[in-house]
Amino acid sequence: MAAGSLIGRIALVTGSASGIGRSVCQLFAKQGATVVAVDVQEKANMETLASLLPGNNHCALTADISKPASVNELFEKIKDSFSAAPTVVVNSAGIIRDNLLVRATEENFDEVIAVNLKGTYLVTQAAAKMMLSEKVDCGSIVNVSSIVGKGGNIGQCNYAASKAGVIGLTKSASKELSRFNIRVNAVLPGFINTPMTDWVPEKVLQGIMKLIPMRKLGQPEDIAEACLFLASKNSAYITGACLEVTGGLNI
Ligand code: NAP
Repeated sequence: MAAGSLIGRIALVTGSASGIGRSVCQLFAKQGATVVAVDVQEKANMETLASLLPGNNHCALTADISKPASVNELFEKIKDSFSAAPTVVVNSAGIIRDNLLVRATEENFDEVIAVNLKGTYLVTQAAAKMMLSEKVDCGSIVNVSSIVGKGGNIGQCNYAASKAGVIGLTKSASKELSRFNIRVNAVLPGFINTPMTDWVPEKVLQGIMKLIPMRKLGQPEDIAEACLFLASKNSAYITGACLEVTGGLNI
């Protein structure tokens, strides 16, 4: 990727306080974007902000993307702070509440759907409205789904359903928004080394590793690079796509 491929772009990244979202913010800042880092975790999000290559008026905003009022407030703040709409959005905020189907609770299901699917929907909708009202000439929304949304996984019925929903949302939104110069794509990570996977016991990790043709977990930077490609003009003719970044894992 040519250096500076996001110069002049405002990039909103959710889930920016940790893991993949933080890595996306760091890479996008290096590529010249003005980063709007959004997360529920205020303190950790300030640490992300402090880690960004300075000089582009980056900011960190606290919001709960599962709550419409919080998303509205977020976009009001963005309107007040910037003279233009974000033309890059990466929806990386997500949670897991894993359990076997027969043990999982309705509350677990509702929480996961609220953040992973409804939150992605709310941010995508608000960002699309802002981009449409400003008639942008190169918008790009990147939704972080999961390979589990395609193939399912034991203990992750709620999560897999939410991530499959994100794929449907991505494909539908891409069909609606393409003619307005807004592309919408998804990245489907495999197993990535972040706080989200920290809890996985070593024995289980070894089992997972055997299923991955490249025999290693991915790093947040691997996903950030895929997001950068989809955010930049290098992917100008790609929309409605699901880019698998899994080390070859195809569950
Ligand atoms: P992570 O390290 O846990 O980071 C996710 C961030 O999103 C956390 O700071 C989290 O805060 C925040 N968040 C949660 N709910 C939120 C809300 N309602 N509003 C705003 N922010 C919220 O996870 P990650 O591994 O980077 O995952 C990033 C994305 O990649 C997720 O969508 C995940 O499903 C997806 N993914 C990850 C993997 C993997 O192996 N790591 C694989 C496939 C897909 P809290 O700490 O408070 O929850």
